[in-house]
Amino acid sequence: MSEASAGTRVAIVTGAARGIGAATAVRLAEDGFAVAVLDLDEAAAKGTVEQIEAAGGRALAVGADVSDSAAVEAAVERIATELGPPVVLVNNAGVLRDNMLFKMSDSDWDIVMNVHLRGAFLMTRAAQKHMIDAKWGRIVNLSSTSALGNRGQANYSTAKAGLQGFTKTLAIELGKFGVTANAIAPGFIETEMTKATAERMGIPFEDFIKGAASQIPVARTGKPEDIAHLVSFFASEGAGFVSGQVVYAAGGPKA
Ligand code: NAP
Repeated sequence: MSEASAGTRVAIVTGAARGIGAATAVRLAEDGFAVAVLDLDEAAAKGTVEQIEAAGGRALAVGADVSDSAAVEAAVERIATELGPPVVLVNNAGVLRDNMLFKMSDSDWDIVMNVHLRGAFLMTRAAQKHMIDAKWGRIVNLSSTSALGNRGQANYSTAKAGLQGFTKTLAIELGKFGVTANAIAPGFIETEMTKATAERMGIPFEDFIKGAASQIPVARTGKPEDIAHLVSFFASEGAGFVSGQVVYAAGGPKA
């Protein structure tokens, strides 16, 4: 009997080669899920898989661009065959193309919409049928405090606000099948993404972190594990009555 049929639930985490996605994949494996570690580059995803396997977990590296419909369909089918039907989906893959509005190019806009919004839509549409068959599922979308507005991020803040509307609609449509959908809106988390922002602004990452921490009530910036912990809660059995919510995880009440 495969592990899937023996009861191990399967989770997909997109953008899981590094950062928040990698920490989430590791955490869900610790929670007992078999985890599909999906990223643009399958070789990069293998690092996270090795970490999970070294700790005794089960994982599969999957290379796919979440904004490519055919690649997404093929990836989800491969995951269903090789790991088991996915019942948890974490839409985490993301990119930044920050620019002030007057300098923002068409492609800065399109790539951010494609990865965050189209990507979450395609992944969710492909995965939901397995959740409906199982009459159980958990969808977690990565929004951001930028959804409330952020200078230089007209594209990203629009996409992250859009993901909140997407989450609420999924909660309404899928609830009767035992599927919940929630969004997490992180504040400043120390990853390659915030490191790249510091570089673009010409500020050493350590100084960037210090400056951000001085504005945060808990007096520190976030770690990927802070977000993984919240994903773990939303994916848990006991969270079945929490759906359509957006939790701001930003070390304080304000973004
Ligand atoms: P990260 O370190 O940049 O990791 C993002 C991962 O997504 C990378 O491995 C990247 O692969 C992958 N990816 C990008 N485009 C993809 C695509 N089309 N298909 C599949 N994978 C793709 O970012 P992070 O900081 O961990 O952020 C994770 C999520 O949290 C994002 O949605 C981000 O917007 C959100 N978030 C982050 C923060 C923060 O402070 N870090 C705050 C709020 C929200 P490549 O390396 O190959 O490009």
